[in-house]
Amino acid sequence: MKTGFTPIRLDNYVELHLRANPDVGRADLAERLRHAMAASQRGERCQCGQPIWIIGSAEVGLSCFTCITGEAYPDEDYEIDVTKSTNAAEH
Ligand SMILES: [Zn+2]
Repeated sequence: MKTGFTPIRLDNYVELHLRANPDVGRADLAERLRHAMAASQRGERCQCGQPIWIIGSAEVGLSCFTCITGEAYPDEDYEIDVTKSTNAAEH
């Protein structure tokens, strides 16, 4: 059974990613993730019409999970929990 995305807060994902990829710059990673999050929240979609996958889009450009990985469905792959990762609710 595919379980779908595992939601993760932006901060937590940055920590995880940096632990696995020590060469990656924290500010650069956060900037790329924020860019993809902003695009997702604007309603931008992959060229195939699916919603974009923020984490993958931060690495390879704005695309959906399937176009990035070649897999039909996510299986415990992380996705940024946008509702807990933005300041939008505070405005
Ligand atoms: Zn796609």
